[in-house]
Amino acid sequence: MLKLATVLILFLPLLPSYAANPAEQPDVDMQAIKVSDHVWYVKGMAGTAIENEGFVSNAAFVITGDGVVVFDALGTPALADLLLKEIRKLTREPVRMVIVSHYHADHIYGLQVFKDEGAEIVAPAGVIDYLNSDSANSRLEERRVSLSPWVNENTRLIAPDRYIKESEKFKMGGIEFTISALGSAHSEGDLTLFIEPDKVLFSGDVIFDGRIPWLGDADTVNWLATLNAIKVAKPAAIVPGHGELSNDPVALIKLTHDYLEFVRAKMKAAVDDWVTFDDAYDEVEWGDYEYLPAFFEANRRNAYQVYLSLEQESLNSK
Ligand SMILES: [Zn+2]
Repeated sequence: MLKLATVLILFLPLLPSYAANPAEQPDVDMQAIKVSDHVWYVKGMAGTAIENEGFVSNAAFVITGDGVVVFDALGTPALADLLLKEIRKLTREPVRMVIVSHYHADHIYGLQVFKDEGAEIVAPAGVIDYLNSDSANSRLEERRVSLSPWVNENTRLIAPDRYIKESEKFKMGGIEFTISALGSAHSEGDLTLFIEPDKVLFSGDVIFDGRIPWLGDADTVNWLATLNAIKVAKPAAIVPGHGELSNDPVALIKLTHDYLEFVRAKMKAAVDDWVTFDDAYDEVEWGDYEYLPAFFEANRRNAYQVYLSLEQESLNSK
C-alpha cells in the first residue's frame, strides 16, 4: 500500500502551484462573450476590487490563427485560470502574449498563469515607476489579506518582459494590432489595444462603466484628452476595463468623461477660492454618483487626488 506521503508527492505536482485550496475555484460566472470575428471578452462584476472574489475587471482575448493575445489578466491567479479555461474551450493555440493595460491590482495578479504558459508579458513604460514604488509590494500584501484565499503566499508580482514607450503596430496570424501608449492617464502608465480588422478597442481603465471610476493615480487632463481621441476614432466596439462591451463609444465614454469633468470643476472652484479640501468635499452635491457601486470606497480619494493635481496645475500656471 502506498504511504500517504508518497501519494502526496505523486499527485501534488499536478495541482496548480498558486491554488489556495485546489478543490476550490471562485464561485463566479465567467463566460467568454464573442465580440467580433476574432475577439472575445469576459466581463467582471460591478463592485469594488475585493468583492465578487476579485472578479471585478474585464479581460479580453484575440484568437489570431497563430496564437492567442490576451488583454489584461484579472485580479487573482484562480480567475486567470478560469479565463484560460474559457480560451481553451475555443482554441488550442498557445497564448503568446499578454498585453496589460496598466498595473492596478485587479488586472495583474493573474499574470503568473500566463507567464507559466510561456506568454510574453507586455506593459506600458509607466509600470517601471510602479514596480519601483512601495505600493507594488504593499498592495500585494494588502490583497493577500483582503482577497484571501485567492491572493496568497503563492501569488507573485510578475514584471513585464517588455515595456511599451511609444505606440506601435504588430501582426500575429495575419491580424494587425495597434498598441497606443497613453502615458499617465488613469494610472502611472496606460495603454490601449486596437484590433485593426475587427475595429475593436480594448480600452483598459481609461473607460469605466457601471461603477465610479478610480482616480487615485490619475492625470485627469491626459485622461480627458484620451477619451476625446477615442470618440474621434469611432471604433466599432469597445471593451472597457470595467463594465459592458459597447458599440456606442460616445455613450460608453459618457460616465467616465462626465465624472472627470464634474470632479475637476468642483475641485477647481475650491482651489481657486482657497477652500480646504475637507470643506470643499463636504459642500459638493454628488447627485446620482452616490448610487453607483464603489462610490463610498473611491469617491473621496478621487476628489482628493484631483484637488492636489489642480493645486499643482494652478502653481504651474503662475
Ligand atoms: Zn485601474
